[in-house]
Amino acid sequence: ARKHDGKNGLQVFDASMLDTARERHEIEQCIEAGLKDDHFEAWLQPIVSLSDGQIAGFEALMRLNHPEKGIMPPGKIIGIAEETGTIARIGDCILEKAIRHLADISALDGTQNTYLAVNFSPLQFELTLPHKLAALLLKHHISPNRIVIEITEAVLMLDNPEVHGVLKQLNEFGCRIALDDFGTGYSSLSYLNRFPVDIVKVDQSFTRSLSSGTADVRRKSRMLIKGIRTISHQMGCTVVAEGIETQEQWQLLRKLGVDCGQGYLFSRPMPIGKMLAMLESDSEVKANTQG
Ligand code: C2E
Ligand code: MG
Ligand code: MG
Ligand code: MG
Repeated sequence: ARKHDGKNGLQVFDASMLDTARERHEIEQCIEAGLKDDHFEAWLQPIVSLSDGQIAGFEALMRLNHPEKGIMPPGKIIGIAEETGTIARIGDCILEKAIRHLADISALDGTQNTYLAVNFSPLQFELTLPHKLAALLLKHHISPNRIVIEITEAVLMLDNPEVHGVLKQLNEFGCRIALDDFGTGYSSLSYLNRFPVDIVKVDQSFTRSLSSGTADVRRKSRMLIKGIRTISHQMGCTVVAEGIETQEQWQLLRKLGVDCGQGYLFSRPMPIGKMLAMLESDSEVKANTQG
């Protein structure tokens, strides 16, 4: 449908715009109900060491489990939640649940070895965050050095001294900072020397282009990843590749010196019950080599 101009030059809403407004309103309602009735879940996806496939940590990924609509992924929710401000409450809820899940995993495997990576929106860096996080960690007997704060360039681009102060405080407290979706922003590289980054997460588009497209594209992708890896290591950062779906991608990334990775090859994100069952049946996530 096209947009039409009304008689007075006023824009007349057409059906598609109405659909968008309606869908938006529906999502807002799902968010409110989800917060009230506890529909938000923190799913976990393992992050494995590329040298041996052992689990190094888990990324918490938000899911809204709506009683009628089913599982709603974050794509549609986060943008709206950021605009309306509900992201702060969602973030608190995910953080609390994810830390509880990490404690459950530790109780199961009897170690304190794995870490937990949590995604943060710019609006979550309130002055109260370090205190809130410290209280949660104390309650669940988790050491701060097992927590990774995942941020994107959007957080750093705000150039808000309060946000940077909170990040610095979290880092001094022992939490690590990961720069997510690295390489897709405007000036990813420039943030490496201006902020206390510990982990660089190479965006999944780089992983994808390693094994698709022309030979030239693949060769250049290998060079890009190798370059990012070299710079990151020289700055003392660990490198994690996102979106690993094939054995070929795993082996290429391993040979390029990337430390860790996550992707459907190892495991899809899953709710805590399923994750505990999987960990119980096999302490290692083994890629399906038959496929
Ligand atoms: P992200 O942090 O870059 O997370 C990685 C995304 O890639 C996840 O999508 C994950 O499910 C997906 N993924 C993992 N392995 C593969 C793979 O092998 N192939 C493909 N095609 N995709 C893979 P998801 O769960 O839909 O999350 C999307 C984005 O939403 C996240 O990107 C993150 O930016 C944001 N997000 C998720 N949870 C939260 C949260 O609790 N708070 C905030 N603020 N943002 C969140
Ligand atoms: Mg992330
Ligand atoms: Mg990412
Ligand atoms: Mg991404």
